[in-house]
Amino acid sequence: MQTNLPSRDLVLIGAGHTNMHVARMWRMRPISDVRLTIISPFSRATYSGMLPGTLAGLYEPHEMEIDLYRFGASCGARIIIEEVTGFDPDAKQIHFADRPSLRYDIASIGIGSVPNTSHVLADNAAALSIKPMATFLNRLNNQLQRLQAGRSGDDPLSICVIGAGAAGVEVTLCLQTYIASRSHVARFCLVDSGEEILKGYLPNTRQLARRELERREVAVHSGRRVSESLGSELALDDGTKLPADVVITATSATPPQVLEQFQLPRCEDGFLAVRPTLQSTENDDVFVVGDTASFVDNPVPKAGVYAVRQGPVLWQNIQRRLQRQTLRPFQPQRGFLSLLATGDGKAIGQYRGRSFHNRLAWKWKDYIDRKFMRMYQDYRPMAMQQPAANSPEPPAMRCRGCGGKVGGNVLSAALERLQIPSSEFVRQGLDHPDDAALLNPQAAPVEVVSVDFFQAFMDDPYLVGRVAALNALSDIWAMGGTPRGAMAMVTIPAGKPPQQVDALTQLLAGGLREFSAVDVALLGGHTTEGDELMVGYTVLGDLGGNEPLTKAGLTPGERLILTKPLGSGVLLAGHAQALCRGEWIDEMLAGMLRANHAAVGIARKFQATAVTDVTGFGLAGHLLEMLDASGVGAELSLAALPQLSGFEELSSQGVRSSLDPANRLSEDQIKVETPKLRALAGYQALFDPQTSGGILMGIPAAVAQDCLTDLADAGFKSASVVGTVTTKSGILTVCQ
Ligand SMILES: Cc1cc2nc3c(=O)[nH]c(=O)nc-3n(C[C@H](O)[C@H](O)[C@H](O)COP(=O)(O)OP(=O)(O)OC[C@H]3O[C@@H](n4cnc5c(N)ncnc54)[C@H](O)[C@@H]3O)c2cc1C
Repeated sequence: MQTNLPSRDLVLIGAGHTNMHVARMWRMRPISDVRLTIISPFSRATYSGMLPGTLAGLYEPHEMEIDLYRFGASCGARIIIEEVTGFDPDAKQIHFADRPSLRYDIASIGIGSVPNTSHVLADNAAALSIKPMATFLNRLNNQLQRLQAGRSGDDPLSICVIGAGAAGVEVTLCLQTYIASRSHVARFCLVDSGEEILKGYLPNTRQLARRELERREVAVHSGRRVSESLGSELALDDGTKLPADVVITATSATPPQVLEQFQLPRCEDGFLAVRPTLQSTENDDVFVVGDTASFVDNPVPKAGVYAVRQGPVLWQNIQRRLQRQTLRPFQPQRGFLSLLATGDGKAIGQYRGRSFHNRLAWKWKDYIDRKFMRMYQDYRPMAMQQPAANSPEPPAMRCRGCGGKVGGNVLSAALERLQIPSSEFVRQGLDHPDDAALLNPQAAPVEVVSVDFFQAFMDDPYLVGRVAALNALSDIWAMGGTPRGAMAMVTIPAGKPPQQVDALTQLLAGGLREFSAVDVALLGGHTTEGDELMVGYTVLGDLGGNEPLTKAGLTPGERLILTKPLGSGVLLAGHAQALCRGEWIDEMLAGMLRANHAAVGIARKFQATAVTDVTGFGLAGHLLEMLDASGVGAELSLAALPQLSGFEELSSQGVRSSLDPANRLSEDQIKVETPKLRALAGYQALFDPQTSGGILMGIPAAVAQDCLTDLADAGFKSASVVGTVTTKSGILTVCQ
């Protein structure tokens, strides 16, 4: 994906309003010799300004989202979908729960804020926080579905929104439309500890909002706190009891708890302390923006408008910091236009001392929000322009002596950062590195060996390392073996030692995570420099006294079962062109990260006669190998082939993997029932190369359904009977 590792890392933590401005500018003018990484817990970033409108059904959910994978692919930014759990500015490290820390040169922290959730609601199953906003609609829908089960249509739901600031008022009014659109009947109430709703707003604006809430029969309880949560009832501090099937917290913004693990100075309000330049008060290379920032000298309200206005200052100041120039201060505006959707095609607004509630205000809000989002939803790949910052010296020409091996210091630094568990299988391994690893044949004889190697298919080396390990292990599992040890082969792009150490550490840590989960020892390996990040493993295993599960052995009448959906080749090709939606990538990665050993265990249980894993040659290629080895034929049903979401759409746009033409060379061995089947997506899926694909097995017909049930219980929900073994030796027939 790149030919040189840039020498500096700019990392944006959180894909909120300010950080995404930097990403957008990067798209137009990337900074030379700097890598941009965006970290977010979700593959889609939600724009809060449009959530109320989405609740009211005025927008489709995708209209309020930025698809980070597509955005990253369009601008060459590395996307890491993970939650940050800590931050160490001295070591310049960003921490995560489940993966190695990531180093940065410049970081910008913008992880937003969370509603102030009372401990009273901590154990209340009915309580739904408005954050994380990315999951709010799903959480709300799940809860409504649960509540509706066993309830009669005219039995009203009681919905209580806690917090009557702008977000609480908007959500209450727009939620009414949402609930009505789902044919639910509901009573609403709005509770706030302040004496007035919409604190900080003009009296006339408050008046307009009160009037609208009254008109919609929303019971407003101002100056009241929730004191107790009693099942599906809330008690307020004046003794009032409120029925509450759903409790939505949209209270004032408080710091996310994780900020306690950020070793940076904080203000009294718990948010990170910043200077006017948006830098942390004690660290020049750390910027803090949006709701997460607390200006020591001049606090501003927690509102998206401030976060948005900080974007251009952040972008300039990051470039200035990289060039060691003087930074410019952020000057917050005094007042701003405020528009609150009421969900009925109108909005309440205030501007320059005037308050209004009308359709024009909604049109205005809609125009502003759509215009804003259009800037972030343009995923067309950008032709790389001239870098913005001064170009550094070109990297010195590197000789490729000794096969371009990376420096020993890079390797040892990476290995030091990893925890490599000991294993009975290893007599001497990476604990005392020598010319070769020594094995312990008493622990397990080496009876089965396989190697697999591929180019990094995404920019996150940890993720690639995990998938590479599972992909390599799968060959041993597909033979019916138990993997015991693995040797790594890695190619990393040239670069400065810190960047190389980081890439290698992330890559190997990903592999180690999967190896450790199945007690496989990392024995050693070989690392070279090359143009692209590549990784593979040789895996050694034993058969544990069992017969191997080969490709030969299929008998006519058996059912062919495939355990994972097809389509990763096309999706990855689509991703390279910024065409692949975030939710499709999420689903594809979840499939790739599902280890195949449970499926092979089930194959053995149901007396599978032949087993293989579907990888680079695609389903057709691997099945033809099985048919040749078994001396039989097969009939495949295209309609039964499980496909990844997005495969059909991308396929119909002509997106193909670069391996597709080679895989189609097997087409002359395929008999198609009618020629029009060749136009179907299922037919294209036959030739799509898979990465960490599923297991294909021949199972006696009588137990095929039971086998599918076991596979679904083991997490292979898409496992399907895709065809039948026939007597027509070597012929693969494809039908509807
Ligand atoms: C319903 C609602 C409507 C609103 N409407 C408006 C409005 O119309 N106008 C207005 O000015 N303000 C509005 N606000 C307030 C506005 O949402 C915030 O002020 C604004 O989002 C702050 O921007 P931000 O970039 O700081 O944070 P956010 O936009 O919240 O972005 C934070 C990002 O950080 C990510 N993140 C969180 N934790 C982690 C972690 N541990 N590791 C990595 N990433 C993490 C999140 O997933 C998110 O992508 C509204 C708020 C709500 C709740």
